[in-house]
Parts: sequence; structure tokens; C-alpha cells
Amino acid sequence: MTAHEDVPYREQRVAPPGDLRQHTDEAGIPEFTGTCPVCHGSNVFALPRLSPGTVLKGWPWRRNGGPVAPDPEQHRMDCECPVTHPQDPLEHGGCGAWWTVVVRPAAPQGS
Ligand SMILES: [Zn+2]
Ligand SMILES: [Zn+2]
Repeated sequence: MTAHEDVPYREQRVAPPGDLRQHTDEAGIPEFTGTCPVCHGSNVFALPRLSPGTVLKGWPWRRNGGPVAPDPEQHRMDCECPVTHPQDPLEHGGCGAWWTVVVRPAAPQGS
């Protein structure tokens, strides 16, 4: 584990964490976890607005290896570590760093 850094709050785009992982919960909701590259706080980011079953249960292009892939859906993931950083105007936690994540279809467990 890396210790959390109490860096001053600053909004900035950063590269996605090296340990970024996508999970899917029982309801089929994609969920990302990762360690903020700036403050080293741990983050969990769920995307509940995606309808279960429509995205994750196997896109046709994925099953058949077909040529047509929809544009990957990109989302902004903000650092939401549980720590309130100095100079955070909203005091909602997080250091202001954000990165983009791309929702992929659920992969089989263990691969
Ligand atoms: Zn933090
Ligand atoms: Zn952070």
C-alpha cells in the first residue's frame, strides 16, 4: 500500500491509474477501482446509469468477432478518495485529479 498524500486540491487531468480495474457487480453495473496517481487515495467509481443487460451481456461484435465495434463509452472518473484535501472548495473529498475510463464488456472471470 502506498500512503495517501495530502496534496492541495487541484483540478487536473491525469493519466489513468496503473492499477485501474473494471469490475461488474451482481446487477451488471460496471465499477472501476484504482489508486489516484496524484494523491494515492483509493477510488471506487460506479456507473449505475447504464442499464443492466444492455451493454454487458455480450455485444454482438464481441461474440462473433465481427468488425463493427461501437465507440467505446468514455467516462470521466474523478478522484474521490475519502480524504478532504487542503484548498478543496467543496470539501467532498478527492484531490481534483480526473482521468478517463472506458467501459468494456464484462470479461469472463479469471482471465
Ligand atoms: Zn486524496
Ligand atoms: Zn486523488
